[in-house]
Amino acid sequence: MVYFDNNSTTRPNIEVTDVVANALRDNWANPSSPHRLGTRVRLLIESAREEIAESLGVLPSHLFFTSGATESNNAVLSWAERNATGHSSSVIISSIEHSSILEPAQHYYPRGLNRIPVNESGRVELSIVEQMIEETKPSLVSLMAAHNETGVLQPWEEVAQICKKRNIWFHCDATQWIGKLDPGQLNQCSSFSFSAHKFGGPKGVGALVSSLPVSMIKGGGQEMEARAGTENFSGIEGMRTAWKLNCSSLSTKDKEVSWKHHFEDTLLNRVPQSKIIGRGIPRLWNTTLVCLPEFDSLSWVSKLDKYGYSVSTGSACSTARSQPSSLSGAIGLSESEGRRLVRISSYLENKEQDWLGLSDAFGRAFDELKTDREAAGILSL
Ligand code: PMP
Repeated sequence: MVYFDNNSTTRPNIEVTDVVANALRDNWANPSSPHRLGTRVRLLIESAREEIAESLGVLPSHLFFTSGATESNNAVLSWAERNATGHSSSVIISSIEHSSILEPAQHYYPRGLNRIPVNESGRVELSIVEQMIEETKPSLVSLMAAHNETGVLQPWEEVAQICKKRNIWFHCDATQWIGKLDPGQLNQCSSFSFSAHKFGGPKGVGALVSSLPVSMIKGGGQEMEARAGTENFSGIEGMRTAWKLNCSSLSTKDKEVSWKHHFEDTLLNRVPQSKIIGRGIPRLWNTTLVCLPEFDSLSWVSKLDKYGYSVSTGSACSTARSQPSSLSGAIGLSESEGRRLVRISSYLENKEQDWLGLSDAFGRAFDELKTDREAAGILSL
């Protein structure tokens, strides 16, 4: 199978699976224990924290290991709500945030939630953000760095500066950015979150980077009193290895961008009237979201699967609920268009041949879907 669903999760690097297995076998002691076995694990955790923090240009004491971006995003919103005394009790998030931002925002701010609209390419516009900040004076603004379905890059660096000037907390969900683009400027945000499995690491581990300790879970006082619970050492070691391999020295992705553009051109040719969302504006080098002219997403996904290509119907998280994510409405797609979205997301292991094969598979899938429909029509006569 050729795997093109990397925005939902990536295949762990082989070095990562080895490191995780070794950590489980050799360093299983509790890092809070005072004996030598425990102390060894504690030192390894702290050196992983230092290594990742250094490459992000943040203090190690500002990096909290969590179970991933969902937990980190929830923690920021619940913490903001608990600490809002004296400040405004409203927040601003974009209308296309991942559900791990949207749902806690709805939960903690049932009356004070304002959502930034996006244009038809799925990007927020700075002038609107500025106007909303002036009007609602929020205590927190949250904007993702890159969208998980469209790959469209958001103006998070500019919004971080706008918030900094006004002393407003700015949180950035950087889950799809880290591992694909340079993370160097993320230290301009008040806080940001990410997950290791989006860049070749294990699932169930990630981080919240925050300039103030965001109290997440009470209990044994781990993670500098912010997030109690015995640390997931094997996950942290796996994340450290994936970080070294895939995040610390990212090359420019000119070749990958040209493979993807060629794929998109061929797709538009083979399946006329398809629409690539966000085409022409800055997007992640690995992501294409296409609205197909006919047949629902799942029919496309299963045909492509039959030809050996794993693609996705959009956000994997919303597939579990079988309802369209908030994206399609936000960019003005009709309900029927929202049911015809297919997401293709590559990663470092995908080569030109994979993209060429995929465009060919789309063409064959289209022909076969039309033939199936005709056959079904004849059968029902
Ligand atoms: N934010 C974004 C933008 C994502 O794409 C995802 C994963 N689909 C998450 C948050 C949540 O990540 P996790 O499931 O690892 O907690």
